[in-house]
Amino acid sequence: MDYERHFAESLDSLRNEGRYRVFADLERHRGAFPRATRHHRGDGPDEVTVWCSNDYLGMGQHPAVLAAMHEAIDRCGAGAGGTRNISGTNHYHVELERSLADLHGKPAALLFTSGYVSNWAALGTLAAKLPNCAVFSDAMNHASMIEGIRHSRADRHIFKHNDPEDLDRLLSSVDPSRPKLVAFESVYSMDGDIAPIEELCDVADRHGAMTYLDEVHAVGLYGPRGGGIAEQRGLMDRLTVIEGTLGKAFGVVGGYIAASKNLCDYVRSFASGFIFTTALPPAVAAGARASIEHLKVSNAEREAHQAVVGKVRARLKAIGIPLMDNPSHIVPVMVNDAAKCKWISDLLLDKYGVYVQPINYPTVPKGTERLRITPSPVHTDADIDHLAYALSDLWSQCALARTSAVA
Ligand SMILES: *Cc1c(COP(=O)(O)O)cnc(C)c1O
Repeated sequence: MDYERHFAESLDSLRNEGRYRVFADLERHRGAFPRATRHHRGDGPDEVTVWCSNDYLGMGQHPAVLAAMHEAIDRCGAGAGGTRNISGTNHYHVELERSLADLHGKPAALLFTSGYVSNWAALGTLAAKLPNCAVFSDAMNHASMIEGIRHSRADRHIFKHNDPEDLDRLLSSVDPSRPKLVAFESVYSMDGDIAPIEELCDVADRHGAMTYLDEVHAVGLYGPRGGGIAEQRGLMDRLTVIEGTLGKAFGVVGGYIAASKNLCDYVRSFASGFIFTTALPPAVAAGARASIEHLKVSNAEREAHQAVVGKVRARLKAIGIPLMDNPSHIVPVMVNDAAKCKWISDLLLDKYGVYVQPINYPTVPKGTERLRITPSPVHTDADIDHLAYALSDLWSQCALARTSAVA
């Protein structure tokens, strides 16, 4: 086989479908988020404003986080030096797991190298090791959950998105004596809609099923201590497992589950994705812990976040830019055309210094292409003015429809 030719042809077909991904080469400026330098050879500004970061609160530049990371590097050096099992467990990991268990009101927590790995390893292990387990997975679940469930080879059932009745119907179709696991998210990251957690837990309880909630887009952001939507709604004790990331609102990197002592110990003992990989650097664990502990006691970031989200929505609505309505912090600007979506995103960057990545198929269904805007407390009123001005200009140039709200 001509391997190189195969690679090139596959990439060409991605390009032809408009699905080829180009990374913006950025250098974020600590102390000046959301500003970044764009490294490129083309025309256009070198200084850009990032409007699509998942560092939702700007914690990636928070002084307490950076100080904790510097201190940990100075005390313990760079890497962990091994897997958790073989010399890699550092006191910083142990403290971070305590902090996470406390955040979610669970007896224990277990760290992974990313949120992706935590879903893949925890779901994969639970579904594979519980004898004859049946898994019930929301139709819009993240790739990491899907891959974990698939890897387990357990019998799986996909329930309609956010639909407790469909979940009930599917659970009823399975032998009541079998172990069952229901997996879903709280905030869905592309539409920004939020699951009916209580109703899904009610259904799961009636069928004696375990519940697994991905709170990746909610931890740090919702609830009085940043414990997520389950904390905000007083439901943390209803979930068997709460999974989260340290890489989005907490601004660092890593993933985890919080659950009972035995469940965490079970995953720790059987999950290949936990056992056979080098532990997170101690400085990463220290930074994540500082971020979590700060957000447990400070509401200022969450309040400022919601305020900026409200301002951005109101501003874009006022000029007739079509938004998908949702109750979360995610602002999807609907373009509904793959080529136009990419074109607008390119011009925003090249002409206006506004960075918003286009979201196309297969991340979202064809015909629902969008710009996923993620406002944060580090965006100023002037940033919002500029974003609105740029979008308005491009909407006119691209002859895209505006909503009737336009004055
Ligand atoms: C980003 C994401 C993950 C993976 O988390 P990482 O820490 O980035 O690996 C898991 N679940 C959902 C819903 C996500 O959007």
